[in-house]
Amino acid sequence: MMSEVFFHNTLSRRAEPIEPLKGNVIGMYCCGPTVYAQAHIGNFRTFLSQDVMRRTLQVAGYKVIHVRNLTDVDDKTIKKSHEEGKPLNEVTEHWTRVFHRDCERFNMLPPQIEPKATEHIDEQISMITTLLDKGYAYSTDDGSVYFRVSSFDDYGKLSRLKERELTTSAADASPNDSDEYERDSMADFVMWKSRKEDDGDVFWESPWGEGRPGWHLECSAMAMKYLGSHLDIHSGGEDLIFPHHENEIAQSECSCNSQFFRYWIHCAHLLVEGGKMSKSLNNFYTVDDIEERGFPPVVLRYALTSGAYRQTINFTMDSLHAAQSALVRLKRFSDDVLQAAGLKRTALLKAINKGKHLQDEWGDFAPAWEKLSHDLNIPGALGSIFTAIKGTKTANLNSEEAAKIAIAYHKLIYALGYNLDQVVIEKPKADVPEEIEDLAKQRWEAKQAKDWASSDQLRDELQNRGWKILDRKDGYELEAL
Ligand code: AMP
Ligand code: ZN
Repeated sequence: MMSEVFFHNTLSRRAEPIEPLKGNVIGMYCCGPTVYAQAHIGNFRTFLSQDVMRRTLQVAGYKVIHVRNLTDVDDKTIKKSHEEGKPLNEVTEHWTRVFHRDCERFNMLPPQIEPKATEHIDEQISMITTLLDKGYAYSTDDGSVYFRVSSFDDYGKLSRLKERELTTSAADASPNDSDEYERDSMADFVMWKSRKEDDGDVFWESPWGEGRPGWHLECSAMAMKYLGSHLDIHSGGEDLIFPHHENEIAQSECSCNSQFFRYWIHCAHLLVEGGKMSKSLNNFYTVDDIEERGFPPVVLRYALTSGAYRQTINFTMDSLHAAQSALVRLKRFSDDVLQAAGLKRTALLKAINKGKHLQDEWGDFAPAWEKLSHDLNIPGALGSIFTAIKGTKTANLNSEEAAKIAIAYHKLIYALGYNLDQVVIEKPKADVPEEIEDLAKQRWEAKQAKDWASSDQLRDELQNRGWKILDRKDGYELEAL
């Protein structure tokens, strides 16, 4: 039995229950990273929201086939390979490894299929051939091929752009189409780019001559190949609505004469300290930059996903402190309830991942699940979680009651994807009695004087009195045992 999950569909502009085309299997295609640099925290806001979407569908009882592509050829990747004097694949493979490492640190579930644009050139050429045969596309003298926007009546249905707006905005909106080509109308977009000098040795043979595919085409071809019978969810950041997704729909629907994906889900952008992220403003953060400031990836994950995914959020360093203390509360409750239930966190989360406990009752966590499964209302769900854990006294529970609560709670922790093992709970500083402080001081002085016998003896005495000495570089700390 699956429970209902609602997402806001950009196509219909309303929240809709997700009903897969086939049984309980949901195909979910996410536009992946362009692998020419390290993904920034804005990119990760989108990728993390998609991870929560997938986990939520899984907890609701669906089997999700998650496909996320790697854009490993486009203007940016080619430029980077020239700048570094390295072959294109060396550059893209390096940044792919960095991306995978970052995803793992964020505790993101890896997609089952991660296709690369450069490994699907034949599929892209075949789609262009179909569109040319059907009259939706035309080739130009220089060996490029364009999609004729005026040939598809539904063009603009996703972004709701009027035809007259398209003629001016389409050309500006996609940097990947910005080269000088001989298109018939400014709105037409390129599917095959004839080889240019700047491309160097990055080109493939095609029926129209040497060249490379346009950016929009890769997602159409790869989504069709891997999710052809599961065209359920397609997702990306809001900047992809137009022209990328609009163009994907045009190419795919015209080549197949049927609807491409039915649910289009878009994540709003992340701003940093109120503005757009940019290298020149020095606010272009990666997970490493945040970790250097002392916050593990789980804290950043919390800060990036705790707002409503369809609203622009403003990232501040203060939000990390708030995230850290919220996570400490979540971890404390997890530790307490697991102890009362005699369960282990890793084993329980693994069981949930394998589909166990999905039919178990939500109990006091029902309102939190209700909110999460209604268009990922994460702020609402977190509020309900904190209310529920505040009202639960784990010390008063027998192990059976505790197990029920632990399972419901960890289903939410699983859906939200927090790796609580990364959360550091600092022990509160204990009040140290004066005579203990004196002994510790004497021991430190003995140690400085290299009087090891006295130093050891004093340490043992402190130990007997229930205090442990932790030596630091230029002093010591006392910890109650
Ligand atoms: P790219 O690597 O540029 O193709 O982008 C990867 C993903 O990140 C896409 O889904 C983009 O829409 C998304 N994205 C880019 N910038 C931001 C941002 N500032 N906030 C949220 N998502 C973003
Ligand atoms: Zn895409």
